Amino acid sequence: MAYTLPDLDYDYAALEPHLSAQILEIHHGKHHAAYVAGLNTVVDELASARSSDDYSSLPGLERKHAFNLAGHVLHSLFWENLSPDGGGRPEGDLALAIDENFGGFDQFRGQMSAATVSVMGSGWGALCWEPLGQRLYVAQLYDHQGNVGPGSLPLLVLDAWEHAYYLQYQNRRPDYVDAIWNVVNWADISQRFKAAKDVGLS
Ligand code: MN
Repeated sequence: MAYTLPDLDYDYAALEPHLSAQILEIHHGKHHAAYVAGLNTVVDELASARSSDDYSSLPGLERKHAFNLAGHVLHSLFWENLSPDGGGRPEGDLALAIDENFGGFDQFRGQMSAATVSVMGSGWGALCWEPLGQRLYVAQLYDHQGNVGPGSLPLLVLDAWEHAYYLQYQNRRPDYVDAIWNVVNWADISQRFKAAKDVGLS
């Protein structure tokens, strides 16, 4: 029943020179692992609250649950959104939908990069599918969980926390975001887009 840390599909050094092996090892093995551990802890704490009928700490537990769950979900997605064989541009239906919703790939990339670079403090840039209006949009997430429409499905997420780039890029977050486009796995994102379109909100 416990949440577990997923293995990566590639070696820690596989995304070099765009992302260093040291960053990947710490980011996956320490940071992501800590969100998984925190999630399992708070799941147990919620079970204890139910069994003792003591909900005095519930608002804090709910927040802790949202933070760690979103951290686990986003990092699991992030690793699959990247590939040593990535880069380039999307094709097919996803490319058409990006053209339709953003006016072109360059405009999409511009907004997605700006959303990721300009997050205040810690957060993410995310390309999301919005099932109610059946459209794509770019979200800027605060921490792991803020600022996304209910029911929206993230397809591509770019981590803008300092732990994602600081050891290699220091304060140059724009350089990190420029580099990461070279390893974005469009095949994975296209598959997610295809599946997301079949998910309804009602
Ligand atoms: Mn991270």
